[in-house]
Amino acid sequence: MFPLLWVTSVTPVCLSEQTLHDGDRTLGEMSTVRRGLGILGGTFDPPHIGHIATAKAVFEALLLERVLLMVANEPWQKVGNRSLSAPEDRLAMTRAAVTGTDGLEASDLEIRRGGPTYTIDSLEELRLSNPDTDLFLILGADAAAGLESWHRSSELPALATLVIVERDGETRAEAPPEWSIRRVTMPRVDISSTHLRSFAARGTTLSPFVPEPVIAEIESRGLYGLDSS
Ligand code: ATP
Ligand code: MG
Repeated sequence: MFPLLWVTSVTPVCLSEQTLHDGDRTLGEMSTVRRGLGILGGTFDPPHIGHIATAKAVFEALLLERVLLMVANEPWQKVGNRSLSAPEDRLAMTRAAVTGTDGLEASDLEIRRGGPTYTIDSLEELRLSNPDTDLFLILGADAAAGLESWHRSSELPALATLVIVERDGETRAEAPPEWSIRRVTMPRVDISSTHLRSFAARGTTLSPFVPEPVIAEIESRGLYGLDSS
């Protein structure tokens, strides 16, 4: 019943790389069945339209069942460099960010686990709770470039397919050969949470880079020096 091309295109044992562009059409898109769980990990301090566009681009290009925006509890690469918003605040903002967006969900898995956040632990947990689902670890090219420094990085490729999201004009990111890789391209959304925190500190509006429900959450929680008064 299912087109063979589609089945082979989502399996994590696929060794070849395939780049999908906006507007590409595969046989799978003629089917309504979506398979696979995408994971976009991040600090989300705050979440912004770049995160949403990335998650949505992969959701559509790979015909995934859903994409989790996985909120890091203690992102070990960022702790100590600056003060982070509380995990509960970042989770609330991320939930607000995906409100009404089909296929995207905020996940509190790493916050519930507590302690320093390592992707390997999250993939192992997701593997156990979703034994029949292919996992797709989504990374921007910037994040993919640092993959080898991650905790137990050599064990990650057995658990998930790597999806590298390349923004127009970005240098192609490579990954260790053990990885099964998919590439998705998307238009560049030149914004980061770091930019947005400095905008807020200068009193500049975060709109339209942050969805309105997130701005409401920021103001009601008094984050980044903003409040609703
Ligand atoms: P910070 O400035 O605090 O590092 P950030 O905006 O870079 O925040 P992260 O939490 O570091 O966000 O990133 C989470 C994931 O989202 C990473 O895989 C990263 O590559 C991706 N990402 C971040 N910003 C963008 C963007 N503008 N467009 C597409 N993907 C993005
Ligand atoms: Mg970043």
